Amino acid sequence: MSENVPLKPALELAEYALETPLNCHHCQKVITCVHVVRLLRAKVNFVSTLPRRGHVIVCPECRRILSADLGGMT
Ligand SMILES: [Zn+2]
Repeated sequence: MSENVPLKPALELAEYALETPLNCHHCQKVITCVHVVRLLRAKVNFVSTLPRRGHVIVCPECRRILSADLGGMT
């Protein structure tokens, strides 16, 4: 009943090819693409001016976050 449940597949995951292969600074592997996951704002203070969404760039090898950004990206 309590098997290890794999991470549920990210529905909003997109793959972007890198123009040149780069090393992930977490796992040191050479990667030729990155995964991008959208951020959707879940909670906010009443007066917040933070953007409603953003994105996180993830290493496809180790799935660690390489970069995160709010706003932009349409
Ligand atoms: Zn990595």
